[in-house]
Amino acid sequence: MDLYEHQGKDLFARHDIPVPRGIVAETADSARAAAETLGGTCVVKAQVQVGGRGKGGGVALVDSPDEAEAAAARMLSEGFKGMRVVRVLVEERLSIAKELYAAILLDRSTGTDLAMVAAEGGIDIEELARTKPEALCRVHIDPEIGMHPYHRSALMGALTGALPAEARHLVENILIGLYEVLTQEDATLVEVNPLVLLTDGRVIALDAKVAIDDNALYRHPETEALRSAFPVDAVELRAREAGLQYVKLDGEVGIIGNGAGLVMSTLDLVQRAGAGAANFLDIGGGASAEVIATSLEVVLSDPSVRSVLVNIFGGITRCDIVAEGLLAALQRVTSNVQIVVRLDGTNTVEGRRVLKEAGHPKIVQVATMLEAAEKAARLAHGEAA
Ligand code: GDP
Ligand code: MN
Repeated sequence: MDLYEHQGKDLFARHDIPVPRGIVAETADSARAAAETLGGTCVVKAQVQVGGRGKGGGVALVDSPDEAEAAAARMLSEGFKGMRVVRVLVEERLSIAKELYAAILLDRSTGTDLAMVAAEGGIDIEELARTKPEALCRVHIDPEIGMHPYHRSALMGALTGALPAEARHLVENILIGLYEVLTQEDATLVEVNPLVLLTDGRVIALDAKVAIDDNALYRHPETEALRSAFPVDAVELRAREAGLQYVKLDGEVGIIGNGAGLVMSTLDLVQRAGAGAANFLDIGGGASAEVIATSLEVVLSDPSVRSVLVNIFGGITRCDIVAEGLLAALQRVTSNVQIVVRLDGTNTVEGRRVLKEAGHPKIVQVATMLEAAEKAARLAHGEAA
């Protein structure tokens, strides 16, 4: 789970990493009010999970509440690089003496945490790593040992010359704070680009990129709760609330299956049949009729869905329960979309009988997965059932 800049900065602040004073705004009006509070001269930053805002118009240095309002209005209406912007961060404007780079991330290839610093910040770090790899100081930290003074000495060595003596311990404290965020918050990445030395001698995290390990979110309910601040697709929100594994895709055949492997092979078959999957939806093992019904409702609520393929290989999941769930859903929703159903495995005979006896006009039963994919693709492309 990637955090937005303002969320990452809140996390930083809780670990005593200095960040600019800032106010989140969701409307141009509140951006203006925020700018007034911050004294007029400030920075308006689009909250999107993509970099390059500085170059691309996603960061505006403004000199008055009027300008802040205009910049926010533009960002909120235009979005950034094709992404919706629902929030901007209005921050105090700081006087920068030097931009640095600092990051710590989980390095899966070595099973260690990798800390990196560079005396050049505010620029594309991948670019720097490619063109001037020696400028990026990399120090591996064994997670069993943790960050020690010798790790920090190695990192600080790379910043010699870039920092006045008085600022060195400030940067070192920030490195301690970043490592604390990584370990205590179960982050897999904390990146500050740029970390800035101000003309008044302070050192501040001007940007924040934080990724949290999804598998550890159960340990951080307050971090998990931040997700609710993310702009999400209405269909995805519905699916998440129902506890379904749902991913929106860009095709036209809605897919429901049990087990990630089966769902993925279903996507492949639909593709081979010349159509595209509109989503990935795994109902998991042993789903109840209610879960099936909600799944179908979720998939049918996606306007790009032209046909649905329900592919069940019953193990713990019982085909008769699936059949009942499908019929229950069709009583609750009205849809013109045909639903191709392939049931196999536990209680197949009962499941198929339930559907056959119901004789619902929207349900088309087929015997194999391949047939199901071909039928769903043809239906999506306008063939009459
Ligand atoms: P990114 O381009 O999406 O990574 O956005 P950043 O948050 O890193 O900001 C991009 C650039 O905007 C920074 O490298 C700074 O040069 C500039 N910037 C951001 N805030 C301030 C500020 O308070 N004062 C000044 N002078 N420049 C700022
Ligand atoms: Mn940045």
